Amino acid sequence: KWNPDMEGLMQLLQEKGSRVTLGWIKQRIKGMWSKWQQAVNTFHNRTIEVGPRLKILLHLGLLTKQSNFKIAELQFKGGPLGELVQWADIISSLYVMGHNIQITTEVNQLQRALGGTSHASSCPPVPGRSSNEAEIIYTDIAGLKQLKKIIKGGYGQVRCKLRIVDSFGTEPAYNHEGYAKSHRQFKSAWAMHNLNPRQFFTMFPHSDDNSFMGFVVDMPVFSTPIPEKENIALVYGKHENYWGTKEKYLEVFKKYLDVHGTVFVPNPPSKIIPSWVQNHGLLKATDLMTLLQRSKVFVGLGFPYEGPNPLEAVAAGAIFIQPKFNPPHSSLNKPFFKGKPTSRALSSQHPYAEEFIGEPHVFTVDIDNKEELELTIKNALKAHEEKRVYPYLPKEFTPEGMIERLSAFLNHQDFCSPSRLRWPPDSSVQLLMSEKGQSCSEVCRKHKRICEASHFERLNTEQSLKNILGTSCRSVRREEDIFYPAFQPSSSVCILQRTPLLFSCVGAKHDLVRFCPCRDFISGQTALCSQCI
Ligand code: UDP
Repeated sequence: KWNPDMEGLMQLLQEKGSRVTLGWIKQRIKGMWSKWQQAVNTFHNRTIEVGPRLKILLHLGLLTKQSNFKIAELQFKGGPLGELVQWADIISSLYVMGHNIQITTEVNQLQRALGGTSHASSCPPVPGRSSNEAEIIYTDIAGLKQLKKIIKGGYGQVRCKLRIVDSFGTEPAYNHEGYAKSHRQFKSAWAMHNLNPRQFFTMFPHSDDNSFMGFVVDMPVFSTPIPEKENIALVYGKHENYWGTKEKYLEVFKKYLDVHGTVFVPNPPSKIIPSWVQNHGLLKATDLMTLLQRSKVFVGLGFPYEGPNPLEAVAAGAIFIQPKFNPPHSSLNKPFFKGKPTSRALSSQHPYAEEFIGEPHVFTVDIDNKEELELTIKNALKAHEEKRVYPYLPKEFTPEGMIERLSAFLNHQDFCSPSRLRWPPDSSVQLLMSEKGQSCSEVCRKHKRICEASHFERLNTEQSLKNILGTSCRSVRREEDIFYPAFQPSSSVCILQRTPLLFSCVGAKHDLVRFCPCRDFISGQTALCSQCI
């Protein structure tokens, strides 16, 4: 069942014509292959439910000419790589799990791949039927829009097979077309697709309404004892635009450490990078890893948000020092988030590193407070001196963790048969009431749990609210909005959700107490409940 044959995968990724689109992805897959093989070996020694071999189509909309993103063009020139990291790892995990995968990077290829799909067919695919149809389709938002154009009359027939790779997440209010159109602040060119919110897969576990896809971090193999670190602060920023006005901030690091960078140098070179920074230029992933292993500190500039690089730094035993955002960055104050289908507010450049990893691996600091910054740098150096920092990687970012998570999703998330959709099991979910004005995500986190949107349906009955509230629920009505099911203490009215697509973990209103399904999770494997594997 397992398929550790890399050459077979390279053949699948072979490109015709002169346009190189998969170059960086292929480089990453080759570089990481031994890690995937190791993961497969660990699964030979333990049981994991991989499920039946599926025919899976992966359409990388972001790489198509038609997307106009220029990601393929900039892949070796300092352009964004986070999404390519994630796609490379999705491809690798599905392939080693033995699934039958097909990859498309152009609209005409997608069209041909769908040729076998009878557009009149219904979901789910009939078991046992011999067919060339993809049973699952992974794509991204650009790809989703292309798909919509190809399948006339909407993507209705393949709707339930879709899995959307969506770094920053899509909240229910933006996803529901009718709701977004009638509440202007939720209108977004990236959203209004009316999918089940759990069909969107994010880069980090930050949007409880969506599913967490993640990616893999290359954990270096260290010799023992671990070699001494050099006095290096490596700046996180491969594009010079990220460096803008940060010279004063970096000068503080210069007092204690030699400052290095891996910035793509344009031709002719500009003068944005201070002359005292030792710039290595954009590095190959393996060389970057070696440099991170030598570095004591990895310095966040405040952008890019939520990339893979800080996890690589921490895995290489460096300390990530990053800016705190006060006020938090969101669509309300940052052009980057304008129009994105999320109201999430980032408390720092990398909230996952801040919340799930923390000190001594990650320090989050007010960079405008010079004393605080100096103290943080000193504390970080002290942690190294006292040997309190070690290479660290949460399991969810290892190949084994990613395979475990993806196979659980493929086995249990069946959007074609909603009756089968109540996963994870009831026993992993606790029903909690929020405080007035609090969202379900907030109340669940407070109880060290995660809001589990697939269980809202179960809560959304008159009987279950009465079971929780007893006689306090004086009357019950149904409404359509992102706050329900909820209780309004001022009127003692219980309000049920009328539109299941609007069940939302993040909806909150000042006068409402929310009813929340909160599930447990495995530490280091946030997407899965304790009984999920
Ligand atoms: N990267 C690289 N060479 C470099 C700098 C970064 O190969 O000189 C890789 C890095 O290892 C990471 C990927 O680029 O896997 C994406 O990094 P980043 O966190 O910067 O995210 P992005 O902003 O590109 O999405």
